[in-house]
Amino acid sequence: MQINLPADAELAGNLLRVRLPNEGVYVSIMEDDRSAHNMRFFCSACEGVCEHIGAAFSLVLKEKTALGLASPPPENDEPLLLTDEELEHRELLRRSDRAKMERMRHASADPKKLWTDYTVTNRESGKSYRVALRGWERGESYCTCPDFRKNTLGTCKHIMFVSGKMKAAFPPKVRATPFRPQAVTVFVKYGRECELRVQVPLRTHPAIKHKLSRFVEKPVADVEGLTRAVSQCTANSADIVIYPDAEQYIGLELHRLKVRRLVEDIRRAPDKHPCGLRCLRASCCPTSSTASLLPWAPAARSLPTTWDLARPSRE
Ligand SMILES: [Zn+2]
Ligand SMILES: [Zn+2]
Repeated sequence: MQINLPADAELAGNLLRVRLPNEGVYVSIMEDDRSAHNMRFFCSACEGVCEHIGAAFSLVLKEKTALGLASPPPENDEPLLLTDEELEHRELLRRSDRAKMERMRHASADPKKLWTDYTVTNRESGKSYRVALRGWERGESYCTCPDFRKNTLGTCKHIMFVSGKMKAAFPPKVRATPFRPQAVTVFVKYGRECELRVQVPLRTHPAIKHKLSRFVEKPVADVEGLTRAVSQCTANSADIVIYPDAEQYIGLELHRLKVRRLVEDIRRAPDKHPCGLRCLRASCCPTSSTASLLPWAPAARSLPTTWDLARPSRE
């Protein structure tokens, strides 16, 4: 493989990025004190270890002087910033390391089923979290741990741990069946962007299906429309599961819309609102509680019993 120095290699204190111009890929070799050999390898084209990584690494071994590795680096050497891709890759590897190395145990809510809820407990810290296994791809499953909500990866060490165990426990045929919800569910799909989603099982009543058809298989854009449709469905005694984080998402979105309209209203007719923008906090425009905007009783009967975000698990 052709690598031209110095054009195809960028080196900084914590990162070497090598371009393979003929292959159109780049390889990053980065320092990471949390990995076994203080090093991470990342190829922009392949998963795991590949010939591109091999080529880049052999460059390091052969061309130490040309790369400036054999003499001390210059004083004003600013560290290279990781690209989003490199950062995400490193964070995924860190979590998969921890999923393999940390002592965790799991308990299934229904051992006969693959797609069910699991309690994952760290044997050392005693902390437990609930994992809802819904698929193998990132963003499909859910975990109640704080890392999952924040990391925007759509996965965490608990999901990786449970996925690994279940891949070994269930035969390929079962592993290939997609998760089918028993009831209509409103949930948040986690990734770089959080998306509100609706899933409607095949055997749903046609009227309910029809009412919700414009919300399925894509992120919900019209949150108000969805809340209206959901309350109409529940009024017709349809069973709809709204996960607590989805409910929170909806509450915040409705709150945002309400505030935006109020601001527009005040701008249009300031005389009608003598208190001006203070109105937003005043009792004439109660916006302090997002729950009051929900057309259904918050976290009421719509909650599945195995799902408990409101009460944090043992911390
Ligand atoms: Zn590669
Ligand atoms: Zn987790």
